[in-house]
Formats: sequence, C-alpha cells, structure tokens
Amino acid sequence: MSKKWSIAALILYVVYAIGMYFYIFHGPSGGVPATLKGTVADPQTFMTERELLLSDDFSKIRNYLFFIITPFEWLVYLLIMFMGLSRVFEKWADSRWKLIKNGAYLFLLYLFTTIIFYPIDLYRYNLSKEYGISTQEFSSWMKDFVIDFWVNFGTTLLVVLVLYWLIQKSTKKWWFHAWLLTIPFAIFMMYIQPVVIDPLYNEFYPLKDKELEAKILSLADQADIPSEHVFEVNMSEKTNALNAYVTGIGENSRIVLWDTTLNSLTDEEILFIMAHEMGHYVEKHIYIGIASYLISILVGLWLIAKLMPWIISRFGSVLKIDKVGDIRSLPLFFVLVSFLLFVSSPLSNYISRYQETRADEYAMELTGSAEAAVSTFQNLAKAGLSEVNPSWLVKIFRYTHPPMLERINTIARYADTREEKPEQEKDTDDETETEKEKQTKPKTE
Ligand SMILES: [Zn+2]
Repeated sequence: MSKKWSIAALILYVVYAIGMYFYIFHGPSGGVPATLKGTVADPQTFMTERELLLSDDFSKIRNYLFFIITPFEWLVYLLIMFMGLSRVFEKWADSRWKLIKNGAYLFLLYLFTTIIFYPIDLYRYNLSKEYGISTQEFSSWMKDFVIDFWVNFGTTLLVVLVLYWLIQKSTKKWWFHAWLLTIPFAIFMMYIQPVVIDPLYNEFYPLKDKELEAKILSLADQADIPSEHVFEVNMSEKTNALNAYVTGIGENSRIVLWDTTLNSLTDEEILFIMAHEMGHYVEKHIYIGIASYLISILVGLWLIAKLMPWIISRFGSVLKIDKVGDIRSLPLFFVLVSFLLFVSSPLSNYISRYQETRADEYAMELTGSAEAAVSTFQNLAKAGLSEVNPSWLVKIFRYTHPPMLERINTIARYADTREEKPEQEKDTDDETETEKEKQTKPKTE
C-alpha cells in the first residue's frame, strides 16, 4: 500500500517538474513591451550583451529551482513517512522522557533532511559563484551552512517541543495556545535578530565613510530617524550583489547597508536607497509585517489543527501515524506548513510589493532625484543579474519587489509629471535579491 503511494508521489513530482521545465525554459517570458523599448527601463539600453545573456540564463535556472525545490521537500517528507523512516527515527529516539525522545527524533529528522538537501544547497552556491554573484570562499560558505544548521535546529527544537507538549495537553485547543505563545516569541526573535543572530554571520559597524554618513544622517534627520540606527555590514567577502534593509524593533531597529552597495554606487544613488529604506522605517513596515505574520500564523495553525486529524484518520495507515500527538507526525506537520506558506506566498508577495512601491514613492519625495533613482535601479538589476520583467507566475510567486521594469518606468513617468507640475514629487527604490531568499521573519528590504 505504502509502496504504491510512494511511487504515485514520485511520478506526480516528476510530471510536475517536467511541466515546470517547459513553462520556465520554453514558456512565455515577460520581455519588454513595445511601448517601453528603447526607454531607460529597457535593459538593452543599460546592460551589455553579456549581462543580458547571463541574466536570462541565471533567472531561468533560479526560477526553475524555486518551483521544483519546495515540492521536492514535500516529496521527501512524504517518502520519509510512506517508507517507514519516520517510525525508525522514533524508535532510535526512544526514551523514558518524552521531551528527550521528541528532541532526539527532531535531531535525526533534521540531520537526515539536511544531508538530502545538501547537494541542492551546494549547487545553488556554485551556480551563484559561476555567474559572478557570490564571491564567498567555500570554507566561509560551509561555516555559514553549519551556523544555519544549529540556529535553525535550535529554534525548531524549541518550537517543536512546545508544540507537541501543547498537543498532548489538548488536541482541540493546542493551535490557539501555540499561537498565543508565538506572539512573545516572534517579538523576542525580532528584537534579538540584529544584535544576536545576524552578527553570527557577518560583521556590523557604523558607516566607515564619514562624509557619506553625514549626508545620510541629514537625510535621516529630515525623516525623523535617530542617527544611531544606521549600520554598514561587511558583505563584499561573500557577494557582489547590492542590498540594504530595515530590521529589528524598538531600540534594536536599524537600517543596514551592505558595503557592496557603498562600494559600487555613487553618493546620490546611495542616498536614494537610504531614502527608500527610510520610507519603510517611517511607514512602520516592520510592524505591519509582524502583525500580518502573526495573523497568518493564527490562520495557518487553525488550518493545520483541522487538517492533521482528518488526514491521519483517512491516511494514517499509509503515513504510519496513529495520532496527532505522536512525534512521528512531525513530517506531516512540516509538509502542511510548507504547503500553506507556498500557496499563500502570492498574497504576502503582493503586500510586500505594495510596501516597496510606497517606499519608492517616499524616496522620490524625499530626494526628488529621478535620475539617481533610475541609475540605482539599473545598477541593481546589473549587479544581481535580475530579470527586469518576469512571467506572471514567476512574478506572483517570487517577487517581493516590483520587477525593475515596473520600478524604473514608474520613476520615469514620475519625472515626466514633475516637469509639468514642479511642486509634486515622487518615488524610487533599491534592492537586489540575494542567495538568502527564504525569509521567515519580517525584514524589509
Ligand atoms: Zn524596500
């Protein structure tokens, strides 16, 4: 029975992967609409022939990986259950103490899946290096990989132990109690993120270029942002991509600029990026992010609490799970979480793109410099080899920022309007995607 299900899941996955292959590599691609050909938004006008080719290849491969890796995770977790591995892990983890047993089970599952996914992570790293985005040495990448393993394992351990303890206490109400505990936990994590977690990976310090810092602080002053909240991070040993972001809450809130951005853009362009980040800061996008994050967790937990018992009552024998409270139901829990995150990502991306547009508008109002805005976006697109106009499916699932074509075009249109009505001003923005694409905690770029 389980064997049949394993084969069916495998075939379904292969069919999906082939279908996606044709969609991404031979399907509709955005291209540049006729009306924008030859304008500042058209990559032909600012990218070299080589950059155009590379960005096309690189985006296609990354888009394809994006669409096949998440379902691959579901497949792996399903096979772990179908093939009885989950039960084996549970046996190995056996202990008189439930906490120890659950913790040991999680460790085995985590280690196993990390080993399975390692080649994919390695491939992504090599790909990024091959295309000249990542500049990170293998040893440094491996070090980050190990830190990731322990940080993620530690956080997951805490969450899983509490979760299964709550399920044991009440199979009906656990999801609500879990959600209540999520609130202080999420706030605490957001608070310590910039000062405890992020420094594990990179070095943070006040801006080195004091002249530029003075300009940024005067801009920050116009936006009413306290000066001690602007930081530089050493990223040039790891990547050529450019980025800046707002993170943390309360006294730990800060705007962080990658040194790559500082090294490769003009002061005007950097000020434009900073103004964009200030837009996020002033409009409190981090807090809106936390609020929507908490709401989605509430809905997600409620759905999972309904779905798990239903799935187990119908397919428990195939999945080899007797009841929700057994730790070996954890892979099912992970599949459901991952699935809900995946299907809800078009909505969260839509909200994010809206906030990005707002931050762009804010930046235009603050700096009033359309020229710097356009060249910033062009440079970001070049540095990240990003696709300026992706196909629809790619945009709704992957784009947390409006595609560059849209952003540049908005600025160009804004500049035109401003020429007619000099008293009005508008917007621009920053950003490139990095290898770290999965962001579980709200962080606004
Ligand atoms: Zn942004």
